[in-house]
Amino acid sequence: MEIIRTVAELQAKLRDARSRGTIGLVPTMGALHAGHLSLIERARKENDTVVVSVFVNPTQFNNPTDLATYPRTEQADAALLENAGVDYAFMPSVEEVYPEPDNRQFDLGPVAEVMEGAMRPGHFNGVAQVVSKLFRFTEPDRAYFGEKDFQQIAVIRRMVELEGFKGLEIVDCPIKREADGLALSSRNVRLSAEQRSVAPAIALVLRSSLIKSREMSLADTKKWVIDTINTFPFMQVEYYEIVDALTMQPIAEWSDSKNPVGCITVFCGDVRLIDNIKYVR
Ligand code: AMP
Repeated sequence: MEIIRTVAELQAKLRDARSRGTIGLVPTMGALHAGHLSLIERARKENDTVVVSVFVNPTQFNNPTDLATYPRTEQADAALLENAGVDYAFMPSVEEVYPEPDNRQFDLGPVAEVMEGAMRPGHFNGVAQVVSKLFRFTEPDRAYFGEKDFQQIAVIRRMVELEGFKGLEIVDCPIKREADGLALSSRNVRLSAEQRSVAPAIALVLRSSLIKSREMSLADTKKWVIDTINTFPFMQVEYYEIVDALTMQPIAEWSDSKNPVGCITVFCGDVRLIDNIKYVR
C-alpha cells in the first residue's frame, strides 16, 4: 500500500490504475473501525484498485468542539488499511484539499433540509464539497458509503446528480454493529465505561419498535422509541423521524411509504450517536 499526500501524486498513480481496470473509493474521516473495514472489503471484492481517503473535513463540522475532539489515529489507520489490502491511502492535509476556501453552495434540496440538515446547519454542504472534490481527484467507478449515515447517502446521490458525475456507482453498505447491537462509530471511543454500557439501548429499542410497529400507529411508535430511550441514564434523544427511504421526508402513516426508515440521533452524555432502522412491512 502507498500513502499519498497530494492530489497530483494520486492522479498520477490512478492514471495507470485506470488503464488496468476499475477504481473503488471509500471516503472516511479515519479513526477506522470494523464498520469502515466492511466498506473496504466490499470495495476490494468489486474493484481492481481500492483507494481509501482519510481526511477529517473541517467544512462539514458545524461545531468547533466536535472538530477539535474528533479522534485522529493516522498510524493505526495506515496499518489497518495495509492489512485490508488497500492500494492507496489518500491522507491529504487541509491545505491540499482546500488550497482556497470552498464557497460552493450546493442546491441539495429537500433531502438535506430535514434531520441532520436541520440540526447541523451547513453540515451536508460541507459533505458535498469534500465528496465532490474526492470524486474529481479520484474519478472512481464505484464509491462506498455506510447506511449508518442513511441521510448522507441520499445527499451524495443528489450531489452526484447536480455535478453530473457520469459512470459512477454509489454503493450503500449495511450498518456494522458491535455484538451488543451498538452501531460502530469513531465517536464510540469517547463514551465512558458507564455510557458505553447503556449505549446499546438505542439499537435494542429500535429493534423492539419493529415488532411494536405491526400493531402501533406510526405516531405511537415514534413516541414509544423516544420515551423508552430517554428513560436510560445519560441518554437524550435529539430527534427520531420516520421518513421515506428515498425522499427522506417524514411520513405520518405507515401506508405513506413503501420503505419507511426510522432515523435517530441520541446524545449519550455529550457524545452524539446516530442509528437507524428499516421498517420492513
Ligand atoms: P466516517 O469516517 O464516520 O465519515 O465514515 C466513513 C464511511 O464509513 C461513511 O460512509 C460511513 O457511513 C461509514 N460507516 C461508519 N460507521 C459505519 C458502520 N458502523 N457501519 C457501516 N458503515 C459505517
